[in-house]
Amino acid sequence: MSKGKLFVLSGASGVGKSTVLKGVMDARDDLLFSVSATTRDPREGEVEGISYYFVTKEAFEEMIRQDAFVEYDAHMKNYYGTPKSQLEEKLSRGNVILDIEPNGAFQVRKNRPDACLIFIAPPSREELERRLRGRGDTPEDQIRVRLERAQWEMDMSEKYDHVVINEQVQTCVDEILKIIAQVAD
Ligand code: 5GP
Repeated sequence: MSKGKLFVLSGASGVGKSTVLKGVMDARDDLLFSVSATTRDPREGEVEGISYYFVTKEAFEEMIRQDAFVEYDAHMKNYYGTPKSQLEEKLSRGNVILDIEPNGAFQVRKNRPDACLIFIAPPSREELERRLRGRGDTPEDQIRVRLERAQWEMDMSEKYDHVVINEQVQTCVDEILKIIAQVAD
């Protein structure tokens, strides 16, 4: 039996989603993070079972065959998916937040119409481009790909329950906390 409410958070690369998510998680200790499975390589500092379950393409495809995902998507040449078992287990304990992209978010909504979908948007496309370039470590062709993807995600944001602009991190965190409180408390 699920006890908690389900929240989905999406936002394009460069929008500052991880920082905002951390702010939200730090403020509400009843909120559990849904750990996705992915075929991409771990980045520095990422921890197996906490950041992601890092699996091979073969293992991921076997999980697809076994219908083990609530949703999954192929994104930037890798698979990402939400394993059903860990999500159900967390929902039996409390409120859960998923950090997933729009294709996955809409699959979640189909399976669980009561899920609350929140999209974090940049103040403008120009500002997003500035933030992506500001990192200084991304090749130009990748910046182009990310910007195109960001534009597509922005177009999808119309279908979310809430769109919150990340102009200033704490304001964005506070707005999301208000939405969560309205749904969960
Ligand atoms: P990253 O590789 O930067 O951790 O994540 C890339 C994108 O994949 C982000 O937009 C993130 O929200 C999305 N993502 C992470 N986990 C999942 C998942 O389980 N399902 C889907 N559909 N997207 C995910």
